[in-house]
Amino acid sequence: MLERLEPDGTVTWRQTRNALRTEASLWMAALRAAGIGPGDRVAVSLGKSTGLVTAHLAILGVGASVVPLNPALTARETEAVLQRAEVRLAISHAETVSRAPEVLAAVQGPWWIVGNTDELPERITPLADALAGQRPGLEPVARDDDDVALLLFTSGTTGTPKGVGLTHKNLRANLQALLVETWEMTDRDRLLHALPPHHLHGLGLGIYGSLYVGNAVVFLERFDPAVVLRAFDPHRISVFMGVPTMYHRLLDVDASVTLSSMRVFTCGSAPLSPETFRRFQERFGFTIVERYGLTETAINTSNPLRGPWKPGSVGPALPGIEVSIFDPQTLQRLSTDETGEIWVRGPNVFSGYWNNPEATAATFHQDWFRTGDLGVIDGDGYVAIRGRIKELIIVGGTNVTPGEVETVLETEPGVAECAVVGLPDPDLGERIAAFIVPRPGEQAAALEQRLRAKVEQDLAPYKRPRLYRFLETIPRNAMGKIERNKLRD
Ligand code: AMP
Repeated sequence: MLERLEPDGTVTWRQTRNALRTEASLWMAALRAAGIGPGDRVAVSLGKSTGLVTAHLAILGVGASVVPLNPALTARETEAVLQRAEVRLAISHAETVSRAPEVLAAVQGPWWIVGNTDELPERITPLADALAGQRPGLEPVARDDDDVALLLFTSGTTGTPKGVGLTHKNLRANLQALLVETWEMTDRDRLLHALPPHHLHGLGLGIYGSLYVGNAVVFLERFDPAVVLRAFDPHRISVFMGVPTMYHRLLDVDASVTLSSMRVFTCGSAPLSPETFRRFQERFGFTIVERYGLTETAINTSNPLRGPWKPGSVGPALPGIEVSIFDPQTLQRLSTDETGEIWVRGPNVFSGYWNNPEATAATFHQDWFRTGDLGVIDGDGYVAIRGRIKELIIVGGTNVTPGEVETVLETEPGVAECAVVGLPDPDLGERIAAFIVPRPGEQAAALEQRLRAKVEQDLAPYKRPRLYRFLETIPRNAMGKIERNKLRD
């Protein structure tokens, strides 16, 4: 069952699994009539509509791969994705094209429009016309394990976006290991879906995961903390998937809520602070289950559903997946409790960047995928993330990970949020700057004094921030990742 919930608490539509299937087979007939089949790629830019899920089911059903488009991309970025992926057909709302008609040329075939089609260029076919005269009832095409189901473009916060093809096997293996075996999701669950529907998190786990498990999904177009809290009980929600920013914002809402149907809150895409983890536990009585993944590998680790939980840890490797720590220079495997680069191998790992053998060669070592993340594994196999290699701060030749400094700063009760970056320093190469969001009522000067005293106690001298800056918010992208370049600027 798929439902759409509006911010005022009303459900505007409901669609059963069977209805979705029937609609998808109608779309499949239209896709086939347009010449789309195995080996083709179709772009999708739709909000949380029944059409969104139908489009994915139908494209996969005819054996093609889906290229989800992030609506926040500019016309230039959208064109680059469409061209790089060699997209044969695109399906979107009218606004995507009317905002930037030049993107039309980047698709090799037709463009289908859902919704109002007034004053649109000629090459566009209204979806209704594409579907007219088609008959449902087609069976999905069988695909091989190694065929690409989803071609995602990485967020691009680290440079040019690269295409990541996740195969049917990658997705199936990962959804089984994470959702079924670790989070124990079943068809009795009801997921409140407040994430964007075009990334691995919201699409791969939230939508594909629900189709895989068979649970109901309640779509909220966008995350609004007060609306989310009000929705849990009346809509009998049992699973919520969020990014850390969402959990901070839920904690900021001053309302009493009952969570009688709730079973599991999960978090990922960026580090969840131990402080938020603790406050959420205290206030709502639920332990946020944090997991860690990348577009290229889907999810690698998760905290167990019933503990033991370790704040600041993303849990042990999922069943069937190997996670290890290596020295990024010598490529030697490191021991327990030593910090290095996190490498991953298993059925979840993609096979290489789309048409980009150089990038592929640079990120694999034999069958290990080098994540570019720094981490450490403890004696129980629990992984803790220490930041990105590129974010490593080198103070006078000694490495400092932002994560270890942030973890200490966050234990000061006056700190709501913080982020640490390296700034150029003529003497030491880099020095550490801390950006702090104080809790309401905190005086910056007094808080800085307490923080300086705290780091003196808890951190070696070279790890201590030299500079403190107080902000209202830490700049983050849509998935909650800190935009460190902005802070540096
Ligand atoms: P993306 O491919 O855009 O999903 O970004 C993946 C990156 O997000 C990883 O390489 C990590 O740096 C970061 N990430 C994801 N989950 C976590 C987590 N639970 N804790 C810390 N960082 C995370």
